Amino acid sequence: MFENQAEPSFRDSVNLMFDQAADLMDIPKGLREKIKVCNSTYTVRFGVKLRGEIHTFTGYRSVHSEHMEPVKGGIRYADNVHQDEVEALAALMTFKCSLVEVPFGGSKGGLRIDPRAWDEDELERITRRFAYELIKRDLIHPSQNVPAPDMGTGEREMAWMADQYARMNTTDIDARACVTGKPRNAGGIAGRVEATGRGVQYALREFFRHKEDVAAANLSGGLGGKRIIVQGLGNVGYHAAKFLQEEDGCRIIGIIERDGGIYSDDGLPVEEVREHLVTNGGVHGFPGAAYDPNGAVLLEQECDILVPAALEGVINLNNAANVKAPLIIEAANGPITAGADRVLRDRGTVIIPDLYANAGGVTVSYFEWVKNLSHIRFGRMGRRWEEARHGLLIDGLEQMTGKQFPENLKTLFLHGPGEVDLVRSGLDDTMRTAYQSMREVWHGKEVVKDLRTAAYIVSIERVADTYRSKGL
Ligand code: GLU
Repeated sequence: MFENQAEPSFRDSVNLMFDQAADLMDIPKGLREKIKVCNSTYTVRFGVKLRGEIHTFTGYRSVHSEHMEPVKGGIRYADNVHQDEVEALAALMTFKCSLVEVPFGGSKGGLRIDPRAWDEDELERITRRFAYELIKRDLIHPSQNVPAPDMGTGEREMAWMADQYARMNTTDIDARACVTGKPRNAGGIAGRVEATGRGVQYALREFFRHKEDVAAANLSGGLGGKRIIVQGLGNVGYHAAKFLQEEDGCRIIGIIERDGGIYSDDGLPVEEVREHLVTNGGVHGFPGAAYDPNGAVLLEQECDILVPAALEGVINLNNAANVKAPLIIEAANGPITAGADRVLRDRGTVIIPDLYANAGGVTVSYFEWVKNLSHIRFGRMGRRWEEARHGLLIDGLEQMTGKQFPENLKTLFLHGPGEVDLVRSGLDDTMRTAYQSMREVWHGKEVVKDLRTAAYIVSIERVADTYRSKGL
């Protein structure tokens, strides 16, 4: 739940954002309601015998919209997961998939558990039992409902779930497509672990390609050299910060974690901070940086770009008025409450919304699902053929000119795309195209003042179109 009593719940917050966009659209009342509501939430309570006694766990799988199937969305492990949250996240999945043209409906799951309280064997038994309950009801199924990792889960849990499905469906040749985010050796795809962070990087690159948009955020120039504060150095925050630092020349001046925040105007070495975090369980004691046990103060610190990459509701009515970043990119789902969104919008802060900013994960999940259904790795058929063609072109050029092709370019040009290259290319294209569809609405309609409303308008319109063409 959000802290401030004046704030609606996460679910209501998403609904408010939906309404704000739908109010500007010409969409019949009944259809609007159909698109907004969450279709179903399945709650399961199951027992697992562990440490000599039976422990009961509560899990959820919400299906927000089946306008396209399978429905898609991660499964979160956290001790405070609840129905409202899972439904809000499922709704975000519907609109996210629609915005980035990933042909899935929206779903989300959660298991109320503190994953750190259990060892690996115990977690495997709990996960398999939870998966069993969902599989029995087709809530894990290659053509119906395809989970993926989320907070507290990763490749390991996905491999257990996929294996559980395969054991219960021994003749299903497409069994591997029942979940995404699996390890490579269990049908995963190159680049999935880093995908959400990579998507944040591509989103920022695309934003900075549009001078007009950069100016709207009161910024100038390119992405290089921008001072960034990242909240959460988990999978998403870590990869986003790492790529932005190493490949785009951004300066990561602040990092906020569970135990506090660290700050250095000269920039923090992301890779080393991550190592420190993994070894010590927190950022406290990281050398050469100022530390504050109250990490949230860094959300209010002056910087160019703020990247909330952990929990929902971290920017809310309590702190929104103090947030100074002119540009915020929502790497997490729902990090800004509807109330805070209003405050920030009124101040002219540009927010790159979650629907778009963190869609890299589900985009690469889509590629993984396609790979699993086609039973072949991307690039396997064409890579060497392409290399050979490039070789011919180089030979031809050298023969025609009598000159040598420059050696450094030759190596690059001769490299045929492997799976990871194709995944990155597909992700980059997805992020660019989706941004352009959002910004067209942002700049094209006088009444649309921000990217979030634009994102919802694009998404809702597409979902509505699907219903219009195929019926309910
Ligand atoms: N949990 C991720 C998200 O919130 C990934 C979902 C997926 O890959 O299906 O977008």
